[in-house]
Amino acid sequence: MSIVDAIDRAKSEGRTVLTEIESKQILEEAGIPTTTARLARTADEAVKAAKEFGYPVVLKIVSPDVTHKSDVGGVQLGLNSPEAVTAAYQEITQALKRQQPDARIEGVAVQKMARPGMEVIIGMSKDQQFGPVLMFGLGGILVEVLKDVAFRIVPLEPRDARQMIREIKGFPALQGFRGQEPADLEALEKLILMVSAFVEAHPEIEELDLNPVFAYKDGALAVDARIVLG
Ligand code: ADP
Ligand code: MG
Repeated sequence: MSIVDAIDRAKSEGRTVLTEIESKQILEEAGIPTTTARLARTADEAVKAAKEFGYPVVLKIVSPDVTHKSDVGGVQLGLNSPEAVTAAYQEITQALKRQQPDARIEGVAVQKMARPGMEVIIGMSKDQQFGPVLMFGLGGILVEVLKDVAFRIVPLEPRDARQMIREIKGFPALQGFRGQEPADLEALEKLILMVSAFVEAHPEIEELDLNPVFAYKDGALAVDARIVLG
């Protein structure tokens, strides 16, 4: 789906937040590697999609009323069989109905389970003074609690991407320690520059979150994505 189509569709439905599925489709078109997700509106459709992707898969809730999918029991990882997918479909949709009876449910997103990697975050938000600003940090507690993040104003130069990765306190973790493999820093730099070029080309995007990106010793992959329109 092109970004124009996605924007039209969202607007016609009165939404400013694109789903994970829409967000990933657009990012892929811009060359950003993601775990492609497909919408399933029933458990049977989810099983069919899982078969096409190949096991193991991940199921996630698709609802315009949910921002943090795991917080509402909306993410199930490592599903290895049609039975597991069917059960996960029911559990995910029922968990949301229990917690937020008014929430709209489009279905679930089915995607391949990615091999584990170190979790990093790449985000874009708009500053009143500086306009679009990119953020980079290590995933999870390091970003949320310790605010160990680096910022640069869009558009970024290759040097900016290099520096922002190296200036976070958690950088040594990316270099590998205690048997952990070092992350592919070049792939992360390239990804940051691609995101910079992408948001620069699309001023209609107000906010972007790749949270998390899995950093591997060879490459990087966005496993969750969220785009907010202005
Ligand atoms: P949330 O809306 O809660 O942020 P995410 O899509 O980020 O939901 O999923 C929660 C966590 O599940 C991620 O931080 C990541 O560790 C893991 N995860 C999500 N998608 C995948 C995937 N395709 N493969 C492997 N792990 C995944
Ligand atoms: Mg996430």
